Amino acid sequence: MYSMPNLPTKFSEPAREIDIVHHTDVLVVGSGPGGLAAALAAARCGVQVTLVERFGCFGGNLTVVGVEGFAWYRHEQTVEANGIGREFEERAKAMGAAVPESQSLSYEIDSEGFKLVADRLVEEAGIHPMLHRLFVAPIMDGDTICGIIVESKAGREAILARRVIDATGDADVAQRAGAPTRTTPVEQMQAASVMFHLAGVDKKAFLAGVRADPQTYKDWSTGEWEIETSGKEDAMFSPFLAKPFAQAIRDGVIPKHLNTIAGTWGAMHDTGELTYMNLVHLAGCDGTDPDSLTRFEIEGRRQAMLAIDALRRYTPGCAGARLRNFGMTIGIRDTRKIDAVYNMTENDVRNEARFDDSVGIYPEFIDGYGVLIIPTTGRYMHVPYRCMLPRQVQNLLVTGRAIGGDRIAHAATRNMACCAVAGQGAGIAAALSVKSGCDFADVNIAALQTELARQGVRYR
Ligand SMILES: Cc1cc2nc3c(=O)[nH]c(=O)nc-3n(C[C@H](O)[C@H](O)[C@H](O)COP(=O)(O)OP(=O)(O)OC[C@H]3O[C@@H](n4cnc5c(N)ncnc54)[C@H](O)[C@@H]3O)c2cc1C
Repeated sequence: MYSMPNLPTKFSEPAREIDIVHHTDVLVVGSGPGGLAAALAAARCGVQVTLVERFGCFGGNLTVVGVEGFAWYRHEQTVEANGIGREFEERAKAMGAAVPESQSLSYEIDSEGFKLVADRLVEEAGIHPMLHRLFVAPIMDGDTICGIIVESKAGREAILARRVIDATGDADVAQRAGAPTRTTPVEQMQAASVMFHLAGVDKKAFLAGVRADPQTYKDWSTGEWEIETSGKEDAMFSPFLAKPFAQAIRDGVIPKHLNTIAGTWGAMHDTGELTYMNLVHLAGCDGTDPDSLTRFEIEGRRQAMLAIDALRRYTPGCAGARLRNFGMTIGIRDTRKIDAVYNMTENDVRNEARFDDSVGIYPEFIDGYGVLIIPTTGRYMHVPYRCMLPRQVQNLLVTGRAIGGDRIAHAATRNMACCAVAGQGAGIAAALSVKSGCDFADVNIAALQTELARQGVRYR
């Protein structure tokens, strides 16, 4: 057999001069619910804001993955921060990009329509948009970040900024700038998902089938998964689908080892679209490893088509269903988090934590790592500013799902509405820091909370 001669394994990249293409006060990297909220909040404080995003639209998981359930936790007694997260929903409703969600008092946000909502919000706030640019390296002066290097079709470019907010979800900027981060071991990471949407579903027949055999959150414990609830969730309706896939396994339509195919649908539209199909769960996918991402993108699409086959055969109203679209990219729930000045804990999210440096409240909603608690009671926690403050790097905040916290804390703070709460706080802090010339560690919390209140955020 032919074997390759010894090949080199390292290459020294030559140093080079690159163009500085832009200067800004506040640079937000990543435009998911966290980054978009941060950019809007900072811009509304009157500083120059630039929003960098690797893809061609804003919205992060909401648009590029197709995660449409922005506030599916909401019930009559749920208490929330409001602020920019609520504005996302209200604006989507006003622009025809939201429909009533199936299990809650919220609206499911249309992942395509939200691209336009985000464009409009960015434009109105006067934010400088820079799409199609991947952050690749920080520009450092000692331990202070002064900007970033991006890669695009234009090659390598530099952007300089007075303050940087890392909203990449994976703490890409913080990690490369030298801030300590923690990555969940890959075998414990929350599963990744390839999301999809269907067309061609008979709405009347589908909903009749749901009514005839209603599922509850208790049904999430399928045998494959055991989900801890607080008990009050057990009898509540959940748009959950597992039976068609169990039948498909019994009939040999789906291989036995794929007993992880099960999950929720989001909304059944009048047009025959059944959207936000969260059915494919890919354990062992490392969202920071492109080889792992490659493998699971392909595997996820394969499993999605098996799921659709099972739905067609065994679910009322789905005989004529067809794939409308996959998300633009695989959905990653869990990678790096910063080791922040304060890391939120399981105790904080389970026991209504209170913090003097709160940037907003978040209802007692925990979803992940085998725990599901729905905020039906009015209980809520504070989200502290310090969990966005990385160690060892100046002029940098991290917001969105990479804020500091343990596993169960993450099961609460990773949710999109909580990312928006944190993001809005980060954006305001960055603007105040620019205006007063102070470090992030010295931001005046009273001034931050005054501005939060002015922007309509409940933080107590
Ligand atoms: C399949 C799935 C289902 C989920 N279901 C729900 C749900 O029902 N409800 C809920 O509230 N939450 C849900 N979540 C969690 C939620 O979607 C995320 O935790 C949340 O979107 C995180 O927000 P973020 O702003 O931190 O990051 P993201 O939404 O991940 O946004 C990060 C942005 O940064 C960009 N970016 C990343 N790296 C770079 C780089 N190097 N350079 C430039 N740009 C970069 C990305 O392209 C992206 O736009 C789900 C997640 C997944 C994956």
